[in-house]
Amino acid sequence: MALALMELGNGRACTTAFHMPAWMIQFADQKQEFNKRPTKIGRRSLSRSISQSSTDSYSSAASYTDSSDDETSPRDKQQKNSKGSSDFCVKNIKQAEFGRREIEIAEQEMPALMALRKRAQGEKPLAGAKIVGCTHITAQTAVLMETLGALGAQCRWAACNIYSTLNEVAAALAESGFPVFAWKGESEDDFWWCIDRCVNVEGWQPNMILDDGGDLTHWIYKKYPNMFKKIKGIVEESVTGVHRLYQLSKAGKLCVPAMNVNDSVTKQKFDNLYCCRESILDGLKRTTDMMFGGKQVVVCGYGEVGKGCCAALKAMGSIVYVTEIDPICALQACMDGFRLVKLNEVIRQVDIVITCTGNKNVVTREHLDRMKNSCIVCNMGHSNTEIDVASLRTPELTWERVRSQVDHVIWPDGKRIVLLAEGRLLNLSCSTVPTFVLSITATTQALALIELYNAPEGRYKQDVYLLPKKMDEYVASLHLPTFDAHLTELTDEQAKYLGLNKNGPFKPNYYRY
Ligand code: NAD
Repeated sequence: MALALMELGNGRACTTAFHMPAWMIQFADQKQEFNKRPTKIGRRSLSRSISQSSTDSYSSAASYTDSSDDETSPRDKQQKNSKGSSDFCVKNIKQAEFGRREIEIAEQEMPALMALRKRAQGEKPLAGAKIVGCTHITAQTAVLMETLGALGAQCRWAACNIYSTLNEVAAALAESGFPVFAWKGESEDDFWWCIDRCVNVEGWQPNMILDDGGDLTHWIYKKYPNMFKKIKGIVEESVTGVHRLYQLSKAGKLCVPAMNVNDSVTKQKFDNLYCCRESILDGLKRTTDMMFGGKQVVVCGYGEVGKGCCAALKAMGSIVYVTEIDPICALQACMDGFRLVKLNEVIRQVDIVITCTGNKNVVTREHLDRMKNSCIVCNMGHSNTEIDVASLRTPELTWERVRSQVDHVIWPDGKRIVLLAEGRLLNLSCSTVPTFVLSITATTQALALIELYNAPEGRYKQDVYLLPKKMDEYVASLHLPTFDAHLTELTDEQAKYLGLNKNGPFKPNYYRY
């Protein structure tokens, strides 16, 4: 297998230090890079998965509004695509054309997957792979699925969240022959039924798992443990799923190798810093139509997410305060030009409060009582624990739902605060996630599948592996042509001086970027 990895999908040349012949060769010398370490659950990372809170809504601006009042469960409908196949179950196959347009839009912002597809024209690194997947079914995952198909894999897919499926995208996939079992608003029973329809098929058995949240893996463990005899590996994206895999591994029950995509460097950086830098403004704007210039904002937590939020708001002309518990992050905030304060010091004057700590009770009822009229309160952290929303459910306070995901909480004296998404993740609840960010994750998933599928016997044991740094670097390099970016190559002399291989990896594993 010798794919010309640096031939770029858009025809442009990329000056880069990556001249790796093929992923097989590329990773073969990287065995030592496959570190194993426990993930820091719930602290630094949040996957795009919302399966741990599957009742959260997941909105998309592009979502098709199906005005038909068809309440019939998709399970009770006779469905067929235009080629006569009925091996799928979606809300309405007639939405396929609209879904196809959504997929085409997403393709524009997913350059690495499109480049992989072009390269796969001659070689099919996933030929023979039978992938069962359980992810959000959106235009972006559709691009991933179709790429896996182009790389030679057969795929069957279910949704990892009962609300996040874009029906029109599921329809488009079903129309183009993918056995997809998913629709928006599945019941719990539907959810497991869909997963089962992907796995329990006559004459077809998966040999790879791509999971987001661990539910699919759990189902196979519970119902079809014998399937693991043929399964070559699991690729898992979410914090929760990765946590479950580490637990299985610790208990000696993990029976195949697994790749932890969640903790790869590129994913973390893009999901946390860059994604939040873009989506904080989007989430606030869509819910409140507010103007940012001159507004006083306090951001709690100056980690990756906090840094992204602060940078975006500062650029819009907001006056930004930061709270931190860690002196290193606090000093970073100061050096970046933000006033470091205690929440109490500014709570009366600020227009917006944003939590990004991953901690609990950062904004308490006492803080909420002291906020000024019209103060906007929202959370960008992983769970809904950061703002003590429960403390607002008391008889003297009135709640008014003024828009989807926007509540006015009104005090007896008439003061009201604007609570967004009931304290759940603002960007996942109220805006879209940039496709480019998802492209990074999807490319990492595709490469992880290729690596596990093609790995020679014995390279991976029954354990959880982090992606090799070189793979992370490769994912990043595939996205550079989008920016017409020209990477400098090390000279032989420089490489020797730094003690590096000219083709990477360029940093040690502990490097923090
Ligand atoms: P991080 O660990 O880099 O940053 C969190 C910061 O909060 C740390 O610097 C910590 O010292 C600080 N902190 C903790 N308790 C605090 C308190 N009481 N007051 C002030 N500061 C406090 O983590 P991160 O990558 O920035 O992620 C933060 C949260 O956001 C996590 O829950 C993560 O899962 C979530 N996340 C959200 C998105 C999104 O799209 N909204 C994306 C990625 C991560």
